[in-house]
Amino acid sequence: MSRHNTRNKNKRPRADESASPSYAALKRIHSTGAITQDDIRQLYSVWKPVCQGCHGNTKDSPNCFCGLIPTTGGARKTGLWQKNGEHVGSLGPDPSKDLRASTETPAGLTNLGATCYANSILQCLYMNTSFRSGIFSLEPDILKKQPVLDQLARLFAQLHSSKMAFIDSAPFIKTLELDNGVQQDSHEFLTLFLSLLERSLSYSKVTVAKTIVQDLFRGSVSHVTRCSSCGRDSEASSKMEDFYELELNIKGLSNLEESLDDYLSVEALNGENQYSCESCQKRVDATRCIKLRSLPPVVNFQLKRYVFLPKTTTKKKISSSFSFPGQLDMGKRLSDPSSNYIYDLAAILIHKGSAANSGHYVAHIKDESNGHWWEFDDECVSSLGFHPFGEKPGKSSDKADQKSEGTSTEGSVANGNNSSHHEAALTSNMGEMFSSTDAYMLMYKRSSKDENGIKSNNIVEASNSSLPRHLMDEIDALNASCVNECGEYLSKKDNLLASIQERRQEVKSVITEAPATPDDDSYFWISLDWLRQWADNATPPSSIDNSPIQCEHGKVPASKVTSMKRLSAKAWEKLLSKVRIFSICWILFLRIVSLTRFA
Ligand SMILES: [Zn+2]
Ligand SMILES: [Zn+2]
Ligand SMILES: [Zn+2]
Repeated sequence: MSRHNTRNKNKRPRADESASPSYAALKRIHSTGAITQDDIRQLYSVWKPVCQGCHGNTKDSPNCFCGLIPTTGGARKTGLWQKNGEHVGSLGPDPSKDLRASTETPAGLTNLGATCYANSILQCLYMNTSFRSGIFSLEPDILKKQPVLDQLARLFAQLHSSKMAFIDSAPFIKTLELDNGVQQDSHEFLTLFLSLLERSLSYSKVTVAKTIVQDLFRGSVSHVTRCSSCGRDSEASSKMEDFYELELNIKGLSNLEESLDDYLSVEALNGENQYSCESCQKRVDATRCIKLRSLPPVVNFQLKRYVFLPKTTTKKKISSSFSFPGQLDMGKRLSDPSSNYIYDLAAILIHKGSAANSGHYVAHIKDESNGHWWEFDDECVSSLGFHPFGEKPGKSSDKADQKSEGTSTEGSVANGNNSSHHEAALTSNMGEMFSSTDAYMLMYKRSSKDENGIKSNNIVEASNSSLPRHLMDEIDALNASCVNECGEYLSKKDNLLASIQERRQEVKSVITEAPATPDDDSYFWISLDWLRQWADNATPPSSIDNSPIQCEHGKVPASKVTSMKRLSAKAWEKLLSKVRIFSICWILFLRIVSLTRFA
């Protein structure tokens, strides 16, 4: 064994050894065959003074108990003396960390990978108080018959009143996937989802719920073809077509006004594209355009950020900066212009990442009730203050705001675009302008200051202070089990810390009493290894094991003195009250035969 070799190498020269008191004692014992108390004191280093503090633990002195426990305030990496936080960590995650600060803070939705864009849409719909009220007002028997509505109502109820900081949207998404009408495409999701809801809601008899989708999101356009010769519109031009979102080009366009101009622009039908006029009875030059006939209370603009590349049959993301106003006048865009259509920015849906089919979806949504903006990033919801992209650092000391600034910048860097992700500038008439390189959908809500707007639309602003009974019962049960789980964790944690504290006190009291003065004859030998284990482990060994310091005959050879400590009777008694004795060594016999190598 290497240990042996080292010892042999370090063996003191024979001249010194023969001069040492131990050598003299051994020699005397060998020749007389008698052992005195003084011999024991000498050979077992009993005479050494009680150590008053040294670096680590002095093996040469059985009266040194240093380093067995950390100094006051100190901690170890493992065992009894590791930090309290690490002990608590062994209990697993603290469920109270998953609780919402308050129901004033919106809850997040768990990420489901492929359908994570759905979370953004769900949050937008939930944050729309009219839509939310409509869903909450649904009759229980309709919920029973319409699984999508049932799951949506449950999801909304949890977002509304759950104590949890994030809600599992899986049950709802599963129900959606069962329906062939909703495919997994972020671009089409909203339209398909709204039409599915519209169908399901039509069975309801509750007025505010039955047509909530149409009442909130449906507007109409017509495709107008006008003959350049007779000036008449085609028959089809008077046909109204419903829309639930307006798809706008952004390629080569820098802001929402330009995109709307493009959307409503007049196209000339000349040459090969000539139009056959019903009145003129011949092919003539004509113009074609989209006319905005009516506007819903909530207008969704889909920004065509993903362009199809025919060569590679893939989609490419346009990551150019696009700006949009905080307030938008849509009245002037109507085929019948009106001054009563002022809209406020209500939500921005953002796609982070450069690939069209992957990346990460987040939503910035305004709380209608107080104008507060929130970033919904799956489970995480962070405050943006009163600005859709967070208040500028310096203006605000709110950490959540600055965090969101940081992540926004990361997003645009990942796109290879180092320009600012968003910026705001004041314009004189329509308030602030915002810009983003990643926004793919904008939601505008008709301004509440626009009195006529509210009256002209059959939307009831219901109070959301309480959930209907049938939903509340379920949430109450969920919350109760949540509170219960937190309570159980807390008591487990308290018990653990109390038992750790008790163990530490126990170890401290034994170690403090441990040293026996050299003159004290009532002492006990204890294995240093065992004592170390007992002092260091959160769960101590149940019995004292002194076998490491004993020879095959059950005696304690002097050669083991560096592996053992001299324990005072007081400390021994204390120790015995805690643990059983497995192997005890308190009577010493020196066996001359074991010392022959010194001769
Ligand atoms: Zn010491
Ligand atoms: Zn004509
Ligand atoms: Zn022996």
